[in-house]
Amino acid sequence: MHDFEYDGSGRLCCAEVPLETIAREVGTPVYCYSLPTLRRHIQAFEEPLTGIDHQTCFAMKANSNLAILTLMAKSGLGADVVSGGELFRAMKAGIPASKVVYSGVGKTTEEIDMAISEGILMFNIESEEELGVINERAGALGRKAPISIRVNPDVDPQTHPYISTGMKQNKFGIDIENSVRQYLRARDMEHIEIVGIDCHIGSQLTDISPFIDAVDRLKVIIADLGAQGITFRYLDLGGGLGITYSSEQPPHPREYCAAIIDAVRGLDLKLIFEPGRVIVGNTAVLLTKVLYRKVTDKKTFVVVDAGMNDLIRPALYQAWHDILPVTRKDGPTHRVDVVGPICESSDFLAKDRDLPAFSRGDLIAVMSAGAYGFTMASNYNSRPKPPEVLVDGGGYSVVIHRQSYEDLVAGETVPEGMI
Ligand SMILES: *Cc1c(COP(=O)(O)O)cnc(C)c1O
Repeated sequence: MHDFEYDGSGRLCCAEVPLETIAREVGTPVYCYSLPTLRRHIQAFEEPLTGIDHQTCFAMKANSNLAILTLMAKSGLGADVVSGGELFRAMKAGIPASKVVYSGVGKTTEEIDMAISEGILMFNIESEEELGVINERAGALGRKAPISIRVNPDVDPQTHPYISTGMKQNKFGIDIENSVRQYLRARDMEHIEIVGIDCHIGSQLTDISPFIDAVDRLKVIIADLGAQGITFRYLDLGGGLGITYSSEQPPHPREYCAAIIDAVRGLDLKLIFEPGRVIVGNTAVLLTKVLYRKVTDKKTFVVVDAGMNDLIRPALYQAWHDILPVTRKDGPTHRVDVVGPICESSDFLAKDRDLPAFSRGDLIAVMSAGAYGFTMASNYNSRPKPPEVLVDGGGYSVVIHRQSYEDLVAGETVPEGMI
């Protein structure tokens, strides 16, 4: 569900603003977000949880734009962070640390100190060694660190291997047996307060059953530990709900929430959710311009001005993004690859796609680019990062400016004496 529609004159619009207007005024490539869509997606997730004791912590690695985070903060959402930088951004956007959960296998001492000092909701512990370090750092700071253990429940989320996180071969979380041992160990740690239990099994899940399998496995641990006197306040079920990029039919948040609520009935725990993609994925397009059409014996390439440095998902996960002409084209289609300017063969946005005839100067919208798009953008090939634009009420605002060439070298020094 989104607000990217053609108007009566065949112009693709974002929240009623023609994308061609934004391309003309801001240039390409550019990420364009529909604020009405974003508001609706937050609402779609929160509404089924009305009356349920819960905290939704937006997974910031999907999108950490300050303007978008500020909207999350104003909507009462917290954040799931995986670095000190994300914690900094969350707080800058007005998300109180008390609504922040901190996940990730590689928390540094400095990051741990920062999170303890700011007073986050809890650490999601990913290894036994990390648990020891957090206890030690909390002691050094004269505090108690609230923790949950991220359990790796060993369920197959049936998604791309790179975004599967809850199977034994993945680096994430602690397996069931060891989780029980680590909770018993944590109970005896002076500077640790056990507050929750957590899992996050993967991303872009299109079926409810792996989520429920994970909950069922956590329930066994909760019962087991309960019998040994360890109780919890929070049950963190992670994120991972998928979206429609092409023909996937993921459950609606309403169905997902209903199934979870049903599965946790009787537990009396505050639920924590960490959705990322499902909130922001379909709120944005990456707008790009055709530079060249290149015909070879084997293929036709449509070369555009956005590359894998702007949107790496196709290159990294063989991800599929819909490609729409910014001005409606009704003619015959041609099988093409849409590729970027980066000097890598993996630099494509679409492969073997039947698309209308694009020619130099045409504008293209790469759909569903709101999650893991800009946050994964890089300066590879010394390309400035694209700007981000929020669109609402017939107008738009540039919230991240396009990097300049000077931005590219800011922070670099040449040590004169050495060279
Ligand atoms: C990435 C991540 C999420 C969000 O995943 P989505 O698929 O975007 O919902 C939630 N929790 C953790 C720990 C993550 O690493």
